[in-house]
Amino acid sequence: MTVRVGILGATGAVGQRFIQLLDDHPTFELAALTASEESAGKSYREAAKWRVNTPIPDDVAEMTVAATTPDDVPDDVDLLFSSLPSGVAADVEPGFLDAGYVVSSNSSNDRMAPDVPLTIPEINPGHLDLIEIQREERGWDGALVKNPNCSTITMVPTLAALDEFGLESVQVSTLQAVSGAGYSGVTSMEIIDNAIPHIGGEEEKMETESRKLLGTFDGAELELHGMDVAASCNRIPTLDGHLENVFAETADDVSPEAAADAMRTYESADLPSSPAQLIHVFEDLERPQPRLDRERGEGMQISAGGLQETPSGLKYNCLAHNTIRGAAGASLLNGELLVEEGWV
Ligand code: NAP
Repeated sequence: MTVRVGILGATGAVGQRFIQLLDDHPTFELAALTASEESAGKSYREAAKWRVNTPIPDDVAEMTVAATTPDDVPDDVDLLFSSLPSGVAADVEPGFLDAGYVVSSNSSNDRMAPDVPLTIPEINPGHLDLIEIQREERGWDGALVKNPNCSTITMVPTLAALDEFGLESVQVSTLQAVSGAGYSGVTSMEIIDNAIPHIGGEEEKMETESRKLLGTFDGAELELHGMDVAASCNRIPTLDGHLENVFAETADDVSPEAAADAMRTYESADLPSSPAQLIHVFEDLERPQPRLDRERGEGMQISAGGLQETPSGLKYNCLAHNTIRGAAGASLLNGELLVEEGWV
């Protein structure tokens, strides 16, 4: 079965990752690329400032970039991936949903809306059924699914593994790569020889999205997970890969060995882009590290390490590739889940 897909915001940092990940995809065939009015009408090669570490696929380089409106995307495209700035996405995504497109989106608008699934296929695939409620309430023929923020998705799989011990409280401090801010997000003068101890909006996203992802959907309403989450988000001069220091308290006592075992054995999903093992756990206290470990599982695996007891619970480190597992790869997996579950 071939599914024709398109990318909204295809020329940006995340859009380029989509193109890289879709090259040679077993079922998805790239059929539409959109960007801003300045790029529309140009060939992709001309419009995109290509910065990914593999060449632009030849067929994609010659495709014409369209404007980001439903009229400019062919009707026979079955699934759209969205990597637009969130303000733009908030304006244009509803038009695509009204027109009947299924959209798997990276942008932060609507992530916490009660009728929008915020999903990580290995963690909460059942939340996709919120689409029924979404269609009823919004009158959309299409469907909107979001993936979480890149710092949230790095931590949540490890928390999902620990939840069998009754998660009560989580504190997390992040060391986030510059690519998370997009190409023009942080200037070299700001970040070289430096660390910036606040990332606007990021802390709130980690605190709320993680509770939605681990929440319970009973078919009618989604109840957020009851744990407390406090996040401190920091930008550091790495290129890719967010490293996070997590402190977790659980209702049941849990040893570092039992926690490592729960993470190692947490089941992955049976989708084309899921890693065989979702979480790799290092014994070595000095791992994971961004430069050494961000490409594990072609950038789709989560790494954890440094599991140790504290007076109140556990501490550990986790890491994921922010533009692959944290952005384009996350949307791609959601697209694969939408197909698998028959929504596309
Ligand atoms: P980016 O590099 O700035 O790319 C933005 C894309 O949107 C470009 O294709 C741009 O086209 C297009 N665009 C901008 N304004 C537009 C408009 N008015 N109408 C139509 N298209 C427009 O941004 P990014 O870093 O790829 O991020 C994209 C989204 O993913 C954002 O919502 C971001 O928060 C989210 N995200 C990013 C990361 C990450 O690690 N970077 C992680 C998770 C989530 P032109 O080239 O024509 O301007």
